[in-house]
Amino acid sequence: MQKTYLTVTAHPDDEALGFGASSYVLSQKGHKVFNCILSGNVDARRHRPDVNQLKKHTNNAQKFMGAEPVILGHFPNIKFNTVPHLDLVQYIEGIIEQVQPDVIITHHPYDLNNDHYHTSKACQAAARLFQRKPCKPLISLYFMEIPSSTDWAFPVDGQNFAPDTFIEVGEVGVAQKLKALYAYEGVMRPYPHPRSNEAIKALATLRGSQVGRQYCEAFQTAMHIIEP
Ligand SMILES: [Zn+2]
Repeated sequence: MQKTYLTVTAHPDDEALGFGASSYVLSQKGHKVFNCILSGNVDARRHRPDVNQLKKHTNNAQKFMGAEPVILGHFPNIKFNTVPHLDLVQYIEGIIEQVQPDVIITHHPYDLNNDHYHTSKACQAAARLFQRKPCKPLISLYFMEIPSSTDWAFPVDGQNFAPDTFIEVGEVGVAQKLKALYAYEGVMRPYPHPRSNEAIKALATLRGSQVGRQYCEAFQTAMHIIEP
């Protein structure tokens, strides 16, 4: 069955870091992938491109990932803590109504990045839309792994990212993910930064090796329904 996947992330490039390779391989199998980026016009980014350039980078990245036209929110970068929780929830609910996803992927709630944290909390609330109004039932909700952010949330309380679901992406998936990341000029860094060519490939190798595959992206299940 062809499925519709929706990622809900805070910043342009998060969707590529967490789901870029999966997005490509899923799209090649006929699934649809929509990326919703809550701070679509990032305004407090270091070495930031201007808004039009960023839009161009974002659109180019979607093509490398085989994704549908991107959905851009206008929440303030690095200031999601100043946005009422309900505003974020209602915005995401609107996107869910529009896209009708089977699967939603968002940030891990123990991600050290504050915007990621608020995105995750709001998305978890919005994913329960079916409890409030009739809509297509969700099959799965997963948390993604963002190198240089998820793994910097020091696991002081044992609530760190614990992958339990893997998507095999192959060499071509990793290559497309890297192309998407390079489409965002200024995002990739030299090794040993976690957002370097080597580290992105190494993480895919590690995640693959954990389940006996060559390259994978890893996720943590928040909710999954098995249809008998
Ligand atoms: Zn981010």
